Amino acid sequence: MTDEPDTSSSLLVDTFGRQQTYLRISVTDRCNFRCKYCMPEEGIDLAEREEVLSYEEITRLSRVFAAHGVNKIRLTGGEPTIRKGIVGLIKSLSQIDGIDSVALTTNGSTLEKQAAEFKAAGLCALNVSLDTLHKDRFAEVTGRDEFDRVMRGIDAALEAGIAPVKVNVVAMKGFNDDEFADFVAFTKDRPIHVRFIEFMPFAGNQWSQDRIVPFETMLTSIREKFDLQAQDRAHDHVSKDYVVPGHAGKVGFITSMTEDFCSGCSRIRLTALGELKTCLFFQPEMSLRDAMRGGASDEELAKLISDTVLKKRAGHPDLQRIVQVSRTSMVAIGG
Ligand code: SAM
Ligand code: SF4
Repeated sequence: MTDEPDTSSSLLVDTFGRQQTYLRISVTDRCNFRCKYCMPEEGIDLAEREEVLSYEEITRLSRVFAAHGVNKIRLTGGEPTIRKGIVGLIKSLSQIDGIDSVALTTNGSTLEKQAAEFKAAGLCALNVSLDTLHKDRFAEVTGRDEFDRVMRGIDAALEAGIAPVKVNVVAMKGFNDDEFADFVAFTKDRPIHVRFIEFMPFAGNQWSQDRIVPFETMLTSIREKFDLQAQDRAHDHVSKDYVVPGHAGKVGFITSMTEDFCSGCSRIRLTALGELKTCLFFQPEMSLRDAMRGGASDEELAKLISDTVLKKRAGHPDLQRIVQVSRTSMVAIGG
């Protein structure tokens, strides 16, 4: 890693002046959980192994992105930790010039075993999905009886010294809307950043508008018990963050449905199949995998990426349109 990443390149600046600095890479479309809000009940058509980007391909593309101003990479999926060799990938990406941070989003099922290895490989930040603090509800929403293991995994990540550790909670009316204050209490003694995410519509995820718990509703509910104090927010920050005096951790809200943060969006996504996406809610723009396997040079790949970035729109579609165009499941897109 270098102290001075090259952010002078304009190749990754979109037509609205937003420099793309944050690459989210889905390393697999497979998952060992079956979260109802993410995975369609009937499952998804899984990609063949050779269709998925190899680690060498991911590393090469990451170098190209880093050479043009990307300084942060997040690995996601599907469940990234179930792909063999993920520790080696974290290590390779951490060593790329210009990459300041390699982060991971996981369901936490392997953390108990892997957290220390992740840390040693250079992992800088970890997001763990945990939508309830009730064991029975956990089994109901994920389809897996893994609550205790995930809780032990979160502790293992803290013990390994990974910081920050964030816990992502998808807020769903009728499921966990009585637990917001409990999650805030969870940050009392643990240096964890709990983030409540408004429920988003994707293919086959049992979404309906009346199941969204709006940010303001969550805030009101939590303020009945806790003194939430707003923190200053950077322009490109997706989470509205709050502290509670005396708590080791903090709380945030990702308000994708009621108040978007598109104007500061610096994210670009690579699917497990190597397609480039400029927004979670639009279909992929092009296949970097096919270009790479067709013999494209790094310069040609950079040009293709730049052309795609120039197509990035000002913001995501409005809610009605999102519902109409949500043809892909979250697990297949890569969250
Ligand atoms: N398997 C990993 C995990 O669960 O953290 C990584 C992939 S998952 C698709 C990435 C993130 O997307 C998770 O934090 C999950 O809670 C979030 N997510 C999935 N479906 C969602 C939805 N419908 N609305 C909001 N967030 C969602
Ligand atoms: Fe798997 Fe993560 Fe989707 Fe749950 S949210 S089904 S753990 S990819």
